[in-house]
Amino acid sequence: MTDSTYVTFPGRLVIVGFGSIGQGVLPLILRHVDMPRDRITIITAEERGKEVAEDLGVTFRLEPVTEDNHRALLEPLLGEGDFLLNLSVDVSSVALMRLCREVGALYLDTVVEPWGGAYTDTSLTPSQRSNYALRESALDLRREPDNDGAPTAVVCHGANPGLVNHFVKQALLDMAAETGAAEATAPADREGWARLAKALGIKVIHIAERDTQVANQPKAVGEFVNTWSIEGFVGEGCQPAELGWGSHENGIPLDGRRHEFGSDAAIYLMRPGASTRVRTWTPLEGPFHGFLITHNESISLADYLTLRDGAGFLDYRPTVHYAYHPCDDAVLSVHELAGKNWRMQGTQRLLMDEIVSGIDELGVLLCGNDKGVYWYGSRLSIDQARDLAPYNNATSLQVTVAALAGMVWALENPRAGVVEPEDMDYARILDLCRPYLGDVVGAWGDWTPLQDRERLFPEDVNTDDPWQFSNVRVS
Ligand code: NAD
Repeated sequence: MTDSTYVTFPGRLVIVGFGSIGQGVLPLILRHVDMPRDRITIITAEERGKEVAEDLGVTFRLEPVTEDNHRALLEPLLGEGDFLLNLSVDVSSVALMRLCREVGALYLDTVVEPWGGAYTDTSLTPSQRSNYALRESALDLRREPDNDGAPTAVVCHGANPGLVNHFVKQALLDMAAETGAAEATAPADREGWARLAKALGIKVIHIAERDTQVANQPKAVGEFVNTWSIEGFVGEGCQPAELGWGSHENGIPLDGRRHEFGSDAAIYLMRPGASTRVRTWTPLEGPFHGFLITHNESISLADYLTLRDGAGFLDYRPTVHYAYHPCDDAVLSVHELAGKNWRMQGTQRLLMDEIVSGIDELGVLLCGNDKGVYWYGSRLSIDQARDLAPYNNATSLQVTVAALAGMVWALENPRAGVVEPEDMDYARILDLCRPYLGDVVGAWGDWTPLQDRERLFPEDVNTDDPWQFSNVRVS
């Protein structure tokens, strides 16, 4: 493990939110960013994490950020060249990005979030509440004329979204090198990456994650258990499922809907992601069912890898979505939550010190190439995570190191305006993250979503094209 300085930062740092990700990233910042700790301020909404802040010698302020108070609270703490790291829930990313732009501060977020309550605001249509719409609201800021040369504002730079967006580029280059089907050097621009994906025959990309971490105390009846933000997971899990919609798909599902604005790279389903299951595969777990939870990377990757012909018609795009098997206790928690008509259990437990074993196998699965499927990602065990950094489990460390790397990249590129992970230097980010990711591997497989099903349920499959979403979805 390295403890080298990645960057020197003379400014002030404000961290909004200090839950599992905030507490996990702070020791990494103190280790790798050369800055005095008395220039760091945490602003959060609950006592949680106070002892960690005290242990690390960092100012901790209990003041929830709201639509009404965010300017009065944050403006005195931020000026030219300072940095705002948003690791909260229920705080509008775009509102904080706008404020940072006005005062000249840099910004990083691991998602794009609305103000609290927006996910369940039924005066908004499902389309208006979607990650697709939230992404468009961040891109609106990028489309404003003063974006050129504006302070860097990185959105969606945790593990997924974030790290996995960079994994896709590495996976494409590995596949090119190992099949000889295309040149294995990094393309210079967005269109080059899309051409590479098309040349490799990629029809589908899953963010395929299997978390096997187990605690010393099993989930109790009436309790929600997870390895990262329970509020965050339930919030996104109750949202309509969303997926980047590929050019090879025969037609959208009966419960699928298109958005009537923006890039048109994605669709949404009229059902919560936490009740939408998909077939997927990781090298260690083999085949499994994951939840198709809405995530920003499903949309941004599909948009990034889109090719259009001269007349503007769609030529190529992969289907992209999350396929998430959280830790087994979280699966039981989701089952119970759904049975209670999506009303949250009375108690919640975010697993950290009580984890006794398990890994987070998090990567991208690229499907459609003749040689088979290719998975590229990180296998990080709880023991490896504990050896590498305090206040982390395997899941949080994959997020926190990516947030650290995004922060370093922003400080190295301070005038890039609004950027998504695809706009950043994937090789630099992967170099920064690798020491904290456990085993980083690429592996081929012969899995398809038809595996065993032709034998068991032949009437249930479309054998003409295994990569149709109708084959991937568990109906
Ligand atoms: P958490 O639930 O453990 O912590 C959330 C923190 O936000 C808490 O400290 C809470 O007090 C604070 N908070 C809530 N409302 C606030 C307000 N109004 N003002 C200030 N602080 C407020 O969540 P977490 O696991 O640390 O996740 C933090 C964020 O990171 C979430 O948005 C989550 O979706 C995101 N996340 C992204 C990834 C990724 O890979 N991209 C992974 C995990 C989490």
